[in-house]
Amino acid sequence: MKPLARSSWTSTAPGGVPLAGPVSDLFIHHTAGAMPLGGVNASKDVEVATIRATREDHVNNRGFSDIAYCYGFMPSGRVYELRGHRTGGHTFCCNGVSIAFVFFGSSDVVDSSCVENAVRMMHEERLRQVEIGNLTASHRLRGHRDVGGESGPTACPGDALYTRLAEIEKGVEDMGFAEYSEAYAERWNKLVAGEARPRVEKIPVTSSTRRDAALGRRQADVDFVTLKALRERPS
Ligand SMILES: [Zn+2]
Repeated sequence: MKPLARSSWTSTAPGGVPLAGPVSDLFIHHTAGAMPLGGVNASKDVEVATIRATREDHVNNRGFSDIAYCYGFMPSGRVYELRGHRTGGHTFCCNGVSIAFVFFGSSDVVDSSCVENAVRMMHEERLRQVEIGNLTASHRLRGHRDVGGESGPTACPGDALYTRLAEIEKGVEDMGFAEYSEAYAERWNKLVAGEARPRVEKIPVTSSTRRDAALGRRQADVDFVTLKALRERPS
């Protein structure tokens, strides 16, 4: 299922700038804030209010240009486009070269069953992001704590979600979910096989993308310092 469009929760323009082509890094976060009231049964209105409140906190109290993350995942299983495929304020090392999925709530304090739908939808959305050319099929999936925040170590995305990363990352053949059918497996395998395609042609050539290619990695670097997003702080 496609994420609900940004226009479903705000009429404001997204922050950051569009990311140049598919990125090779995906980070998982939690907001460490309140989960939408009702949890798995929360109404869309309550979820929208939660996203708006989070954006207001990021903009008014932390000085970001927008809500920090790219896509938001609710205990209900609804997924929302936040900034979308744009530079973010989520992961200090890598705001200009990665995308971020965020769970709305604190996975450390909610019952782990509240993250079930989010885990499944994060797996599904990974696949969709590869299909639409936003992520390379061989991208790295990590939790925010794997790289830390600007001021040092972070517990993000909380233990309950961090311990599920392997499930979000698993190849479809390892998934236990009934809905991951053979047709789904075919989609995934086709994508991975397609990794040899010259996706790099989609990336505008700049000094930074040339250097990324030369180094065989994508990492925040001096070229990106000019981007507003890199001056933003991690959450
Ligand atoms: Zn985080």
